[in-house]
Amino acid sequence: MSRRIDHFVLKVDPILCDGFGHCHELAPELVHVDEWGYPIINEQPTSSSDVALLKSAKLAVRGCPRQALRIERISGPT
Ligand code: SF4
Repeated sequence: MSRRIDHFVLKVDPILCDGFGHCHELAPELVHVDEWGYPIINEQPTSSSDVALLKSAKLAVRGCPRQALRIERISGPT
């Protein structure tokens, strides 16, 4: 029997993003900003069992004034 493991990645829509970097303030562990203030997001999937990081990602999604962020869930067998 295989066990499923769930991960997530934070995704940004570069068309919607205004580059003020609010997401970095809300989720600094997941989002860095470039020299113009546009987000650079860690593309490595993060385990959904990391409650603190998932909470940060949700805060960033809710706090994005342009609704440019979303959480993409990734599921698969271990
Ligand atoms: S908070 Fe939203 S609009 Fe602002 S930089 Fe981050 S993704 Fe872009």
